[in-house]
Amino acid sequence: MSLWKLLQVSSAIRSIARSASYLGKVKYDYDLVVLGGGSAGLACAKEAVDNGARVLCFDYVKPTPVGTKWGLGGTCVNVGCIPKKLMHQASLLGEAVHEAVAYGWNVNDQNIKPDWQKLVKSVQNHIKSVNWVTRVDLRDKKVEYVNSMGAFVDPHTIEYSVKGGPKQQATAEYVVVAVGGRPRYPPILGATEFGITSDDIFSYDREPGRTLVVGAGYVGLECACFLKGLGYDPTVMVRSIVLRGFDRQMSELLEAMMSERGVQFLHTTIPSSVERQGDGRLLVKYRNTTTEKEDSDVFDTVLWAIGRKGLIEDLNLPAAGVETKNDKIVVDSKEATNVPHIFAVGDIIHGRPELSPVAILSGRLLARRLFAGSKQLMDYADVATTVFTPLEYSCVGMSEEMAIQTHGPDNIEVFHGYYKPTEFFIPRKSVRHCYLKAVAEITGDQKILGLHYIGPVAGEVIQGFAAALKSGLTVKTLLNTVGIHPTTAEEFTRLSITKRSGRDPTPASCCS
Ligand code: FAD
Ligand code: NDP
Repeated sequence: MSLWKLLQVSSAIRSIARSASYLGKVKYDYDLVVLGGGSAGLACAKEAVDNGARVLCFDYVKPTPVGTKWGLGGTCVNVGCIPKKLMHQASLLGEAVHEAVAYGWNVNDQNIKPDWQKLVKSVQNHIKSVNWVTRVDLRDKKVEYVNSMGAFVDPHTIEYSVKGGPKQQATAEYVVVAVGGRPRYPPILGATEFGITSDDIFSYDREPGRTLVVGAGYVGLECACFLKGLGYDPTVMVRSIVLRGFDRQMSELLEAMMSERGVQFLHTTIPSSVERQGDGRLLVKYRNTTTEKEDSDVFDTVLWAIGRKGLIEDLNLPAAGVETKNDKIVVDSKEATNVPHIFAVGDIIHGRPELSPVAILSGRLLARRLFAGSKQLMDYADVATTVFTPLEYSCVGMSEEMAIQTHGPDNIEVFHGYYKPTEFFIPRKSVRHCYLKAVAEITGDQKILGLHYIGPVAGEVIQGFAAALKSGLTVKTLLNTVGIHPTTAEEFTRLSITKRSGRDPTPASCCS
């Protein structure tokens, strides 16, 4: 090629590049690729399509070590919130049957037992129906869905393969990583061979029997409680304290409530190994980290509930240059990674709550910012949450410890009270752990910093108060609110005793 021809070609290339840059657009296959079809990814994908974007969403579930797998929808639908709530409900119904007798129902067989296989089948049938509806919803909304892992080839290109077929690639202007997490296994002998996790328990094909639940966070406590309620015999192994990070007083009350119901606790203990015995049962060796004493016990099931790790390992993030920290992706307040067109939402984000509604709202808001000109950011503060134990614990805002730390002990007032739910009287249910408190500023109208409640249907009770707290609820407003009688939620409107006063927070009756 002559020099003249060469100059002409390079000038043409520069001109094309200039006009592409002038238009501000390179042609991509999609406006958005979403990696992960769970709460966050689906919310983001659907909102993006609603705002005119062309969207491709990947979702793929790797089986657990014992082979459990599931369909579209992510953790919440398949192995999280939904099956957990159904098993929680099943265990509450067991209690309700016994209460019904006190209320005059003729329940002939007093030795009522649940049928584990039937329960699992019902739960799994419900999940399959949700998987189906989710798929139909994506098709109707015209979100392209591919059942495959997706991994970066470069910052705009994702590689995938459908059902072991040839590798394919898709390019996108924006990529949202919403791959969530999976349960951790401890690095000890027998952990993956013989232990299961929350990924397995909701479809477990045999009765769990005597179960060691390792971990005392949300998952550990919730699983131990529904197993107890269903008639099994759970022991919770606690490494440090129950519900670390939550309000201490409430966590200790919750633990006491669980103990009263027969859940066993092994404190300051960590497992050393799991072996299968000749009779098929599991021998677990463990060590008390306070006394250094080693011990062992035999269980039918070992359930690891020791937290979750972000699923970054299959993403080939180095190809995109995305920054990570401890298995999670680092993002700014716009959920943007260090690579400006790559975002992350949901459980995969570092340092944010691992909760389904957080994942959904952050995914939706991100899509609106990308495709609808919105400027609204996700507000991660004051997110309400519930631990689904038989008396549930729900809270929003600061723990008492956090309020003391941020405001100083002399600048906060804690209003508290025990209460007696009316419906507990006839079946003579224990009211010992029905307790609530409001942590507030001490001056002015006393802005409320945190609300905490242990009792029936805690999530339902706290949800509305969470909106009030976000709107600047004060003690003055709370106490000027007329309660709904007879409910347990109304107890928040009757909080008159402060911890500082030293007065007895135990009521004489339900209506005092
Ligand atoms: P996920 O729902 O985990 O979705 C991510 C999806 O991406 C998964 O399907 C995953 O397999 C897939 N994926 C991973 N890597 C790739 C890849 N490379 N390519 C394609 N796909 C990929 N939250 C609540 O608010 N309330 C509750 O009561 C509650 N209960 C829970 C109970 C349990 C037992 C557990 C484990 C969690 C619970 N949670 C609860 C938490 C809630 O489930 C999560 O916060 C939520 O599911 C996170 O959504 P996500 O979209 O970020 O991730
Ligand atoms: P968490 O991080 O809440 O709790 C993990 C527990 O395991 C802690 O008690 C921890 O002890 C213990 N632990 C950690 N490592 C070890 C180890 N190597 N050996 C023994 N014990 C160990 O994780 P979960 O799995 O319970 O829950 C994960 C997330 O899922 C939660 O943060 C929550 O956001 C979400 N979730 C929400 C629910 C809801 O909304 N109701 C229900 C279930 C889950 P230590 O305190 O000493 O670290």
